Amino acid sequence: MEEALELIFVPGPGIGHIVSAIEVGKLIVNEDTRLSITYLLINDPAVREYTNSRQVHPRLRLLNLPELAEVSSDFQTKSKLPEIKSVGRVDRQKPLVREAVVGIMATETRVAGLVVDMFCLTMTDVADEFSIPAYLFFASGAGFLSLMVYMRRLTDEHGADITEFRDSDEKFSVPGFVNPVPARVLPSAMLDKDGGSVAVMSSARHIRKVRGIFINTFQELEPNLFQSLSISNEDKLPPVYAVGPIVNFQTSPDSKYSDAIEFLDHQPRKSVVFLCFGSEGRFSDAQIRELAAALESTGRRFLWSLRRGNQSESSNAAVESILPEGFLERTKGVGRVMVGWAPQAAVLAHPAVRGFVSHCGWNSILESMWCGVPMAAWPLYAEQQINAFQVVEEVGVAVEVRVDYRGGSGVVVGADEIAAAIGRLMEGEKGVRERAEEMREKSSGAVADGGSSRIFLAKLVRDIIDNSSG
Ligand code: UDP
Repeated sequence: MEEALELIFVPGPGIGHIVSAIEVGKLIVNEDTRLSITYLLINDPAVREYTNSRQVHPRLRLLNLPELAEVSSDFQTKSKLPEIKSVGRVDRQKPLVREAVVGIMATETRVAGLVVDMFCLTMTDVADEFSIPAYLFFASGAGFLSLMVYMRRLTDEHGADITEFRDSDEKFSVPGFVNPVPARVLPSAMLDKDGGSVAVMSSARHIRKVRGIFINTFQELEPNLFQSLSISNEDKLPPVYAVGPIVNFQTSPDSKYSDAIEFLDHQPRKSVVFLCFGSEGRFSDAQIRELAAALESTGRRFLWSLRRGNQSESSNAAVESILPEGFLERTKGVGRVMVGWAPQAAVLAHPAVRGFVSHCGWNSILESMWCGVPMAAWPLYAEQQINAFQVVEEVGVAVEVRVDYRGGSGVVVGADEIAAAIGRLMEGEKGVRERAEEMREKSSGAVADGGSSRIFLAKLVRDIIDNSSG
């Protein structure tokens, strides 16, 4: 009988990380029946609910790490950025992961590797302790990866302090980008003087420790970036594999789903602009009012997933009360506001949708392209500014609202500027519609039999198995 091989996968905290980690895991184990995966999940109520409610695959095992007791950590930062807090939280889990790895190694199964996602790079230290090969699942694009690698080099080999570029007009020749990358689209964490930048660089240094990087992208989307990462001797990068797009269009048809789809079913083909800003995208009351005024002034049909301020749960009534007076009444029939979560994938796949105003989270970008829907880029947090720059300037599937917008900055984009961007989006300025259609074909082609991502996946799995034998 062939020897069973186990991968141990540590996804970042939060549901968004788990979903794509599980989807890529299914692809990996389906590629070779010897492989199985144990996920070590950082304790979180939403994740527990998600994992308790489903049997994901017979060869994928989900283990919730115990509630975190007081453990010491050398990861200290004053940074207030949520993404940096997440990296710190992951770092504190090291003793728990170590314990779990010991448990798995004590069984009959051979451990073929430890897979971490981009928020858990420092966890590769644990792989080193046990001499297990480490792999990185990079859930954003090759563009952000190339930027991290470039900024590490600038810091470590040229003595730069990236935080000095905050608010500067500097532009960088990042390998693989066609256009110079302006400092104003660098992720906030890279520019954060309160330890965020230090944490990002620490993660970036760990990239070179892994044996392979599999990225949720496809070669045809980022050809130059991919090529540059693949041949980069200078940065001593491990092999990179483009295995995406990994998108999940299975929806549980709840009341929000029915509400959105029922609305879209009553709209003409390709007439609706959809607005949705990710799992954490919230706006100030002033910005919400400008957005509402913009939508009304365009007279276009819209479906708007709206979250307010810092409240995780806002009641419909509270949110509606800050919209301009009479807005809901005047836009009845042509517009629908959904407070909180919207069934984004199903909406994007609906024939009535013509354009997507997006915060440019990487999953949203992939889902939009999968459906051939062009975007208007309005980034808010994490690495979304560089993603926005890419989809507008490099890929050409999006128009710009503001590629350098930062959530929480207090800046309010005026109604006229938003309305103009929605107009450009819906009219398909600069060929974004044709380019989105082209990307729709290429993204499904990449994961079809014989497609580039299928070939990379097979190579990745072969390499994991080869590396496991020493
Ligand atoms: N999403 C959704 N409804 C919402 C907000 C988000 O279905 O109201 C989904 C979206 O389809 C995507 C994911 O959540 O799959 C968000 O991932 P992304 O990387 O775009 O952004 P993040 O939430 O990580 O900032």
